[in-house]
Amino acid sequence: MSKKFVYLFSEGNKEMRNLLGGKGANLAEMSNIDGIEVPRGFTVTTEACMDYYENGEAISDAIKDEIMQYIDKLEEITGKKFGDVNNPLLVAVRSGSRASMPGMMDTVLNLGMNDDVAKAMGEKSGNPRWSYDCYRRFIQMYSDVVMEVGKSFFEELIDEMKEAKGVKEDVELTADCLKELAEQFKAEYKNKVGEDFPSDAKTQLMGAIKAVFRSWNNARAVSYRRMYGLPGHWGTAVNVQEMVFGNLGETSGTGVAFSRDPATGEVKLYSEFLMNAQGEDVVAGIRTPRPIEELKDILPNAYDELARNLKTLEKHYRDMQDTEFTIENGKLFMLQTRNGKRTAVAALKIACDLVDEGLICDKDAVLMIDAGSLDALLHPTFEPSALKKATPIGSALGASPGAAIGRIVFTAETAKQWADKGEKVILVRLETTPEDIEGMKAAQGILTARGGKTSHAAVVSRGMGTCCVAGCTELKIDYDAKKFTIGGVDYKEGDWISLDGSAGNIYAGAMETTEAVIGGEFARIMEWADKYRTLKVRTNAETEEECKKAIEFGAEGIGLARTEHMFFGEDRIPAFREMICAETEEQRIAALNKLEPIQQKDFEEIYESMQGRPVTIRYLDPPLHEFLPTREEDIAELAKTVGKTVKDINDIITALHEFNPMMGHRGCRLSVTYPEIAIMQTRAIIKAAINVKKRHPDWDNFVPELMIPLIGEVKEFTYLKKYVIETAEALIKEAGIKLNYLVGTMIEIPRACITAEDIAKEAEFFSFGTNDLTQMTFGFSRDDAAKFLDEYYEKRIFESDPFERIDQKGVGELMKMAVDRGKAGRPDIKLGICGEHGGEPSSVEFCHTIGLSYVSCSPFRVPIARLAAAQAALHENEEARIKG
Ligand code: PEP
Ligand code: MG
Repeated sequence: MSKKFVYLFSEGNKEMRNLLGGKGANLAEMSNIDGIEVPRGFTVTTEACMDYYENGEAISDAIKDEIMQYIDKLEEITGKKFGDVNNPLLVAVRSGSRASMPGMMDTVLNLGMNDDVAKAMGEKSGNPRWSYDCYRRFIQMYSDVVMEVGKSFFEELIDEMKEAKGVKEDVELTADCLKELAEQFKAEYKNKVGEDFPSDAKTQLMGAIKAVFRSWNNARAVSYRRMYGLPGHWGTAVNVQEMVFGNLGETSGTGVAFSRDPATGEVKLYSEFLMNAQGEDVVAGIRTPRPIEELKDILPNAYDELARNLKTLEKHYRDMQDTEFTIENGKLFMLQTRNGKRTAVAALKIACDLVDEGLICDKDAVLMIDAGSLDALLHPTFEPSALKKATPIGSALGASPGAAIGRIVFTAETAKQWADKGEKVILVRLETTPEDIEGMKAAQGILTARGGKTSHAAVVSRGMGTCCVAGCTELKIDYDAKKFTIGGVDYKEGDWISLDGSAGNIYAGAMETTEAVIGGEFARIMEWADKYRTLKVRTNAETEEECKKAIEFGAEGIGLARTEHMFFGEDRIPAFREMICAETEEQRIAALNKLEPIQQKDFEEIYESMQGRPVTIRYLDPPLHEFLPTREEDIAELAKTVGKTVKDINDIITALHEFNPMMGHRGCRLSVTYPEIAIMQTRAIIKAAINVKKRHPDWDNFVPELMIPLIGEVKEFTYLKKYVIETAEALIKEAGIKLNYLVGTMIEIPRACITAEDIAKEAEFFSFGTNDLTQMTFGFSRDDAAKFLDEYYEKRIFESDPFERIDQKGVGELMKMAVDRGKAGRPDIKLGICGEHGGEPSSVEFCHTIGLSYVSCSPFRVPIARLAAAQAALHENEEARIKG
């Protein structure tokens, strides 16, 4: 049997998301729920989309035929005819991939219209205003989304018409005006596209379906996929659905409804609607929607049914639902449902509430939270006392919670450029569009002049966990002058402002913020996560403050203390530079003698703050270019300290210059050349441990882990291990106490993965340094890759940043090899990861599957890693259960 590419809604269900896309699968599921009215239709599958790409971006004849057969079926079901003047079947065409994805072609409504259909529909219904409103919308949407003519010209034409007629709102335009607009739109289409607007319904349908497929790979969709780690081979489905009309008059309308508040999680019908309107009007923020409570008075039956439907859907899906609905002459239709996007705060509350309501179990709760979204909760909020004192310069809708401070920018491009340079920015726009995605992601916060709770800015920023204040009507933006005015005061590009995305307030200047704490529902979810995860979570930290934060967030030890980071401080860097620039062993030892007590004190502090938990300390790994003095005054100071001339120091710096410092004299290579460095560090680590052990003899698990970086050849390791052990043993013997310690290595060079069996015979633990391992596997410089990787994403060579998410095919394979070979060399070897990937959810899951015992990440990502680790364990159990 040949492959089936089209499914009626009645043929599908929610489990078929991969084939039908999220929207299609849910339309099918919802159509089969008793008591919920869904306009009929069919879905063209994601496989048809992939076929389109394999077929040189063309829809095959076989798929075209199948689509037309389903049009026949839809005609039979509805009793209407496609392209027929007297009884036309009009359809909505919508994209829908597995995951809901802004940036793709969204919707074309009223497809199937032409001059004759518009005229006949007007006559037959006695409502020509309605029929021409449908027609002009169709031409507008088709031109914009199918032919990419752009929307602004059409909007200008509408504005001109409103001005000419002296009216303010679209709904005040008469049938004749709308008919005239339809003519103008068609002329504009011909002008831009070079041919007549298609009047044949089938041509229109194929054009729209092709546009949906094409939109899967447009720049916005590609960039969105990268942001959320969605693969390009999924493809999108296309939903073709019989139209119902919200623009038939004052007993018709359309809206968006959530079963709970997506910002707070509160249990209530959270919904907005517009009377006499079609779907796009609500989402695009063109007209300001009305709160749903008003519908109670206008159409009480429709209101009750909507509330009932949302309860039914929520029970059915066992999750908060986000729906679209249309009321046609008082009758309610549900147009789509999906698990609603929500803020991190709402996600936690909803998960806990659903457990308490008995709809889900704690495992479901752990699985339903997007681990990455917790990031939004782990960052500062406004300092309450500062907030109390401050007076907002304006307020609007708190569309996505959080506290943001930043400098004003007016375009997405500027937002990205400034953020790339390390600036905090607030993106201020009249309204946002999918083109703004990159800039929105780069911004700390988003402020818009238009739009409601379900506008693009609100929905997208909630998904991103970015603070957003939307629909501030008092805000007068002048893009040309790069300023906005509020309350009579001008604010220019570059000025600081603060946004409170929960209360919806805007403040001048940068307000003080306060640290996040884990409590309430967050703590409950974390407790459940800890119950199910098997992977331990450690942190990368060097300071007392970082250690404290990490413990508060649940860290179970330190997986990486980068000792060179301890010398970044103004007061410490001179001694470190002295060591780097030493020319003789004597000079170096003199410099090391200055460093040793500083290091010892730091290590004692770390051990104390970690209260007996495991601590891995890495030997010096300074890529020299990060530490050499560059400023004249620093060079002069160094010259003075070591009794040399400025010229001498400059000569030393020149001699130390490396063409490729990341592959240069760093890591273990430094101590191979100068073992006195490893000796000094061992002394500091062990002396600190002895002191701490004396203070806490009961800390049974206190076993410092000494880690040698950048090993590529086992003999490098054995050479240094000899010095480490000799030094440590002598100190422990002298102290007369029992102190265990481990000596292990980082695995961050491909050769180390390949020779891992030999290395494991010598090393007691491995910790994957996936930053360097990624750098060296790809041969991409960590410091420079960002400059050209954007091109890779645009050209779809890469779907995500390999420095952010582990490249499982390449780097991941090397890791697996190292795990297997490492275990062959030492069956009980301890395995962990301390590269940046250790806090990224998909990478954490990967680490779980290859059998690591811990991940280590920055303190702020510890809760994310805990949750991701639990999800990994639960996914594994589920797979094992399915396999039986
Ligand atoms: C690594 O390479 O992954 C690592 C953790 O070390 P660093 O980032 O300090 O090179
Ligand atoms: Mg490294």
